[in-house]
Amino acid sequence: MHPLLLLWDIDGTLIHSNGAGEESLRQALLNRFGILDDLGDIEISGRTDTAIMLDICRKHQGHGIAPQELLEAYLDHLPSLLAQRKGCVCPGVRELLDWAHQHPEIHNALLTGNVQRGARIKLKHYRLDPFFEFGAFGDDATDRNKLGPIALERARSRLNKDFHIEFTWVIGDTPRDIACARSLGCKVLAVATGRWSVRHLQAHQPDLLFPTLTDHQTVVAQLDANQKTACRELHR
Ligand SMILES: [Mg+2]
Repeated sequence: MHPLLLLWDIDGTLIHSNGAGEESLRQALLNRFGILDDLGDIEISGRTDTAIMLDICRKHQGHGIAPQELLEAYLDHLPSLLAQRKGCVCPGVRELLDWAHQHPEIHNALLTGNVQRGARIKLKHYRLDPFFEFGAFGDDATDRNKLGPIALERARSRLNKDFHIEFTWVIGDTPRDIACARSLGCKVLAVATGRWSVRHLQAHQPDLLFPTLTDHQTVVAQLDANQKTACRELHR
């Protein structure tokens, strides 16, 4: 069997922070820099933290905030906001992570726009951190599409295994996750547990699409079926 690599997005896919991330940004701006902004005009979903910080600093350029300064303030606010907002792990996620974890040839890793420290804070809060040893993060590149090759290279070097692109899956909730997978050339499983509906995600033609991951056994069966087809194609 070919080793299978699952590259997970965090927000809207693994977890729902109930707006804790955005509220941390708003409070960072207000408490550290005295700027009141609802950030309604800043695109957040599916983008890297570094790209988001750059946009906000550009919008408030008169204040001369450095993106790194804003990022630090955001990360300082994040743990208490996660506790206040009481989000959740998306249904079926824990079961899927467990399933992968129990198979020596299946590996979980992260492919997220969160910077590494932010990703760790979020995963630790929801007790998902034991499933993830490595990944590619928003501090590896500003452009999310550049994160795929980094995640793949880390998987290769950390696990000392060669992952074929046909057996590498991006799992995410936005068209940007799908674009990121396409730019890497790997497969993509889209799930409509974030802001995008099944219909909207369908238009971007993911390889697999689910309204939620609740029925985790069907998700496993579909991944398995894909794995078998890809194997047959490869060895034809
Ligand atoms: Mg997401």
